[in-house]
Parts: sequence; structure tokens; C-alpha cells
Amino acid sequence: MEHLMKHIEDICNDNGIIMKRHNGKCSRAFRNYRGTGKQKISVKRINSYLTYAVAMHELGHLLGPHQHSHDVLEREAGAWMWAMTNCKVWMPCMKSGMIRRLRSYLNVKGEPDAEHIIWQLVPRS
Ligand SMILES: [Zn+2]
Repeated sequence: MEHLMKHIEDICNDNGIIMKRHNGKCSRAFRNYRGTGKQKISVKRINSYLTYAVAMHELGHLLGPHQHSHDVLEREAGAWMWAMTNCKVWMPCMKSGMIRRLRSYLNVKGEPDAEHIIWQLVPRS
């Protein structure tokens, strides 16, 4: 997993993004960390393809499309699209992890109409 960790570090370095590791549950991205104007991601140690995918997803919140949308489903989908495009590998476990996470947002927010970009990533049941 070294090379995948390195990939995350390189993207952070190239874009002036601060990376912090955490051991808790909640990975996230900060556009303007504590009002400093700095971008930051807080991610788990990269020890699996899935933790790599989630870290790339957090970078997608800073570097990906649709991040200024008012619609959280669109922001989440945009961050995953960026991750999917930019990950060095895209394994079945990464895809299923993405779908699981997007479905949990759909469960909370309800299903948007058929044209929504989230349906490009989540199969309709
Ligand atoms: Zn997200």
C-alpha cells in the first residue's frame, strides 16, 4: 500500500493540501481549515484499497467537480467521480465501498430524480 499512500501524499504536496491521519471513524475534507484559507484532509492510515479510495474521495471534495453545489448528493457524487478517475487502481471493493457510502446518503436524503448524477454511480434498485 506504500505506493498508494505516496500517491495521496503527492497530490497533497502538488496542491498545497495538508494531510492529517486519524484513527477515528470520520474522514473528511476542509476547504478552509479553521479560517486559515488552507485546504486539509483528515484520513485513516492507507492500509487497504478501500482506505485509499476514501482518502481519494476526500481529495475529490477539494479538487473534484460539483463541489459548490447546494445538493449534498451532487457533492458526494462529484467527489467520487474524481476519485474514480484519478485512483491508480479501481478494484471491486472500492466500487462497492463507494456505492455503500452513496446509498447511505440516499437513505438519509431520499432518492433524487432519474437525471441526477448520482445514478451514474449507484445502480437503481
Ligand atoms: Zn464525501
